[in-house]
Amino acid sequence: MRPTTGVAPLGERSSGALSDTFGRVHRDLRISLTDRCSLRCTYCMPEQGNEWLARSGILSLDEIERIARVAAGVGITTFRLTGGEPLLRTDIVEVVRRLAAITGPDGTPVELAMTTNGIRLPELLPDLMAAGLQRLNVSIDTLHRDRFAALTRRDRLDDVLAGIRAAQASGLRPLKLNAVAMRGVNDDEMVQLVEFALAHDAQQRFIEQMPLDAGHTWDRAQMVTREEILAALATRWALTPVPGRGGAPAERWLLDGGPQTVGVIASVTAPFCGDCDRLRLTADGQLRNCLFSTAEYDLMPTLRPAGGQGAEPMDAAIERVLRACVHGKLPGHAINDPSFLQPARGMNAIGG
Ligand code: SAM
Ligand code: SF4
Repeated sequence: MRPTTGVAPLGERSSGALSDTFGRVHRDLRISLTDRCSLRCTYCMPEQGNEWLARSGILSLDEIERIARVAAGVGITTFRLTGGEPLLRTDIVEVVRRLAAITGPDGTPVELAMTTNGIRLPELLPDLMAAGLQRLNVSIDTLHRDRFAALTRRDRLDDVLAGIRAAQASGLRPLKLNAVAMRGVNDDEMVQLVEFALAHDAQQRFIEQMPLDAGHTWDRAQMVTREEILAALATRWALTPVPGRGGAPAERWLLDGGPQTVGVIASVTAPFCGDCDRLRLTADGQLRNCLFSTAEYDLMPTLRPAGGQGAEPMDAAIERVLRACVHGKLPGHAINDPSFLQPARGMNAIGG
């Protein structure tokens, strides 16, 4: 469903920060650069038969920069580049350079982070850092080659490990490693994954599996819960909660008193919607106010007007769609309601 492309109601046309009807101020924009990927993780993409976005419908570098500048002007302070696999985009270094140069209304530079499967980091990281990339999250769900190949349907564990070594050597910190916890797949590796992260000067974060796979096969019984993850970790470390989470998706715990930590993103069993400050932009120009939203707010008619530019300046129109998207945000994602409907798009097309 893509309900909003026209003129937003007057009630949504306000000035100031991007505040929704529940008082949540939005500071974080996740920008999906492509729906394509070098892996086929079972919880994200189908093995075959994915309906790719048409290349002509993908936002250009100039369009991404334009949206980002408008967003920074109304209070977005962090951009996270994601996908699909963001490093597959051929102009990725230029995307980073353009976005890293953006400042807020008070002249403060935005923060620029990326979530990646890491495969192209060894070749690209020096240029990405020179262009202004500040933070990295790398996804790795298992340290076993056979499991990795089955889970991602690609035998590329060694490439991901090389990417993580490049990230470690780069000095970009904090470096975060993400793993989706899955029953019978990697739930016996929780301790080893944390030890691996610590050995690479990284923070391990576990993610509860969410109903966002393209095949709509998510099964609550297969999901490893926050409680189960913590119980597994407690066999090895004393866990002390870290206070002051703010709008961050991960709850964190000190390992044996710290300073090292582990994080858990428990979107299903412990939703954190009340503090959510995130918006998403898909690679084809759709704004989303929630991962699980079934509504999208289309920026394409604004960016590429069929009949030529209308009377409203383009930046004002982009801001209006941003405000409409924030205004339409629901209090929570409702995964746990019986009436929950999984979004039509998979995670690779929404942007994780
Ligand atoms: N390709 C990059 C990567 O894998 O890091 C960036 C995009 S990926 C969609 C972003 C994050 O979403 C990854 O950490 C991935 O594990 C996570 N993810 C994908 N599908 C998920 C699901 N169904 N439930 C929970 N996390 C998911
Ligand atoms: Fe690709 Fe990331 Fe989805 Fe895995 S989770 S298929 S690496 S986009």
